[in-house]
Amino acid sequence: MKILIVGGGMGGTILGNNLARRLRPELKAGAVRLIMLSASERHMYQPGLLYVALGRMTPEELYREQASLLEPGIEFHVDPVTEFWLDKNQVKTQSGAVYDYDILVIATGSRMAPELTPGLAENAHCFYTEASAVKMFKALQGFKGGKVVIAMGVPHKCPMAPLEITFMLHDYFQERGIRDKVQIHYTYPLGRIHTLENVARWAAPEFDRLGITYETLFNLKAVDGDKRLVYSEEGAEVSYDLLITIPAHRGMEVIEKNGLGAGGWIPTDRYRLNMEGRDNVFVLGDTTNLPISKAGSTAHFEAEVLGENLAALVRFGVPVRDYDGKVFCFIEAGKDRATYAMFNYTQPPQPQPPTRAVHWFKVAYNKLYWLSARGLL
Ligand SMILES: Cc1cc2nc3c(=O)[nH]c(=O)nc-3n(C[C@H](O)[C@H](O)[C@H](O)COP(=O)(O)OP(=O)(O)OC[C@H]3O[C@@H](n4cnc5c(N)ncnc54)[C@H](O)[C@@H]3O)c2cc1C
Repeated sequence: MKILIVGGGMGGTILGNNLARRLRPELKAGAVRLIMLSASERHMYQPGLLYVALGRMTPEELYREQASLLEPGIEFHVDPVTEFWLDKNQVKTQSGAVYDYDILVIATGSRMAPELTPGLAENAHCFYTEASAVKMFKALQGFKGGKVVIAMGVPHKCPMAPLEITFMLHDYFQERGIRDKVQIHYTYPLGRIHTLENVARWAAPEFDRLGITYETLFNLKAVDGDKRLVYSEEGAEVSYDLLITIPAHRGMEVIEKNGLGAGGWIPTDRYRLNMEGRDNVFVLGDTTNLPISKAGSTAHFEAEVLGENLAALVRFGVPVRDYDGKVFCFIEAGKDRATYAMFNYTQPPQPQPPTRAVHWFKVAYNKLYWLSARGLL
């Protein structure tokens, strides 16, 4: 039996390690092979980019060698998939190799698509890649005062990042002693300041208290760098001196090109996590089309369920658990305080007032992530 995992990010790595431990006897006996194909030999802890953009972490702290994170028994190759031949149970890779599988798991993540918004890539800063986070930090260091506008496209990964960057910018300017010279203006595409109602209800008074202005129903349409204006689909225009964005995301191009899902989002069963219409193809993390947060914790909880189910499929031919939509997100709230949101398909989050303890727990998790990726936490 061959299990092929495509993608060695948060979801793929946690699943691979989970399966390698569960199926140790079968792997040793050669009854099961576990193969992982990925696009990079390095694994990045993406949540750390938020801290890089504000000079609190350096990029080197965010990387580990992917091979060093994997349990023995996982055959790992850096050889991105270029073609999915689902009817033949095969994929083809960049090197020209063809891999057969009995079970396929797709965990290729998502990507920013700033090209969807005219003027965005040229005129706005963002922090979702190493290069852009470093560039944003340099721009912040040179910023002497004026209007900072935060604007975002949807969907995007890490739904808490817009709030976190806003709270952290407030602190950053305060620490530099120029908060009184900076207007922080937050925009959001929906009719409230966060997609989760209870999170929006908690965050709005916090923004008011910190003097952060905001406007809602602001769907990014275009940016004019000469006039320093950002336009919304709803017809509003907002001036800026420094524009910080999270562009709309798409799944990876290879998913769309192979006809696996519009926009690169794969139609996925919300409980069993199989690709709709395919019993031996499973989907994990950002690349699903599920109506839940695109977050590392989502990928993590999905991977745990899938690990249990795939091991059961190998041994008894039937899955044993459903994924309930569980997500857990920390929310940095400024002044070294944080809260969190935990929710699932049926239960909304109930964020509590932020505390220093939760902040330090998040800071600790930034280091502990590597244990989590190996499935030890
Ligand atoms: C700034 C920032 C802050 C964030 N903060 C948080 C946070 O606080 N909490 C949280 O839970 N989440 C956070 N996230 C989101 C989190 O990082 C992602 O949701 C998570 O990494 C998704 O996991 P994934 O496995 O689906 O994709 P990824 O981790 O992105 O992994 C995708 C993998 O697929 C590989 N790949 C791509 N194309 C191919 C191909 N053709 N063939 C083979 N392999 C391929 C890539 O090399 C990569 O290894 C944050 C993200 C960012 C950018």
